[in-house]
Amino acid sequence: MKHTTLKTRDQGKANGEMSCPNCESAIAVTFQALLVDGKLKCKNPICRTVLHLNQAQSQSAMSAMRKLQDGLKDIG
Ligand SMILES: [Zn+2]
Repeated sequence: MKHTTLKTRDQGKANGEMSCPNCESAIAVTFQALLVDGKLKCKNPICRTVLHLNQAQSQSAMSAMRKLQDGLKDIG
């Protein structure tokens, strides 16, 4: 049985990335992808899954995006 820890939702994930629901490759989550393109693309050439924003919102993309926003506050 798979054991999962729920201490922090983003545990083990780099900032600005989420896992492809199809192949589990890392997908970069950027403002451009979310706000301009409205979709995220898996960079795995075999997979090529495209996550549209409404799908991505149900994944970890939004938490990744919040981290990006926090980073931009530090810069600006
Ligand atoms: Zn994929």
